[in-house]
Amino acid sequence: MNSTEFGGIGMTSQRTRERLIQRLKEQGIGNQRVLDVMRVTPRHLFLDEALSHRAYEDTALPIGYGQTLSQPYVVALMTEILLSQGPRQKVLEIGTGSGYQTTILAQLVGQVYSVERIKPLLDKARDRLRKLGLRNVRLAHSDGGFGYSDNAPYDAILSAAAPHEVPEELLHQLAPDGILVIPVGPGDVQELRVITRVGDSSNFEERIAEQVRFVPLLSGVTR
Ligand code: SAH
Repeated sequence: MNSTEFGGIGMTSQRTRERLIQRLKEQGIGNQRVLDVMRVTPRHLFLDEALSHRAYEDTALPIGYGQTLSQPYVVALMTEILLSQGPRQKVLEIGTGSGYQTTILAQLVGQVYSVERIKPLLDKARDRLRKLGLRNVRLAHSDGGFGYSDNAPYDAILSAAAPHEVPEELLHQLAPDGILVIPVGPGDVQELRVITRVGDSSNFEERIAEQVRFVPLLSGVTR
């Protein structure tokens, strides 16, 4: 994906966008490619018009159905972690939501598969991705609590919704040296866990990156 394709959209907010990028840097985001992609990605297109003027604030915002567009800092952090051990070809995202994180990922990895359990959110996200001309994204209406076995294994899995425990299936769907970035915990605040498969073994290394706030991973799908 050539990031300049996004350049023409929403030029009016260029200064506000730059402020957001500055803020991400101050908070410790150091991956230049991630910062560049976040700079050119029009976050306002992922919100209803009534909220679009707040698109470049570093905050999570409502997208309907009780769900939120993730905070830019958290999107940047998770993406940076996902890329921290080298480039990734095939990536699964759980919880498409607005499609914003999907759009960021699609510009930085080979192919993104993204699953969402709420059909109307998925449909809106699909429209946006089409308008942006993203060609390396496949969306599916599916419960990501079991991963998405259709295209497994994945070089990386990123979950935008928090389960109480790490679902075993996600570990099974990691390719050798694959990485899973996932918020875990039952409360309002969860641990952002980073789990790496060691080579092609069934051993995993795990660390906690920081405390984060995500919506819960729910089971089943809704129309
Ligand atoms: N990255 C998205 C975040 C959306 S919030 C964005 O920035 O817009 C997390 C999303 O995960 C919600 O849309 C929610 O419906 C979805 N979700 C929750 N549990 C899920 C599950 N089991 N399978 C798929 N999606 C799920």
